[in-house]
Amino acid sequence: MAVSGIGPYDPQNIFAKILRGEIPCNKVYEDDWVLAFHDIGPKAPSHILVIPKGAYVSFADFSAKASAEEIVGFSRALGAIARELGLEEDGYRVIMNVGPNSGQEVPHYHAHLLGGGPLGALIGGPGAARAGAG
Ligand code: AMP
Repeated sequence: MAVSGIGPYDPQNIFAKILRGEIPCNKVYEDDWVLAFHDIGPKAPSHILVIPKGAYVSFADFSAKASAEEIVGFSRALGAIARELGLEEDGYRVIMNVGPNSGQEVPHYHAHLLGGGPLGALIGGPGAARAGAG
């Protein structure tokens, strides 16, 4: 079910539980700022979720409230993970869903890092149909 991208932050969300070690994940990277792990329902040959360690609901929340250090740490880690996974040469896509129109399901900010093969059209669904209609 889609969630609000503007909060309030729910500390019982599934990614908060993963960060606290209450639920396992298939980890690919961790540092002071982020945790990255394989998406449980991959939409591409490589589908990694990169999440900040701080309590932010979405990109909207993170971009407005996170410190400069957190934002830099997150961006550097995201780029480094893509590089380490060998995704740079053939390319990859980063998606951050925010709120109901995007279909965001987990109310802890996360970037989807997708690659490992052709990714197809940028978006699908009703928004794409409307955009192409006129
Ligand atoms: P979003 O729709 O942007 O909120 O994406 C949430 C993503 O989290 C989906 O792609 C899910 O497959 C993924 N997901 C949900 N629960 C888990 C979990 N326990 N471990 C890894 N990925 C998960």
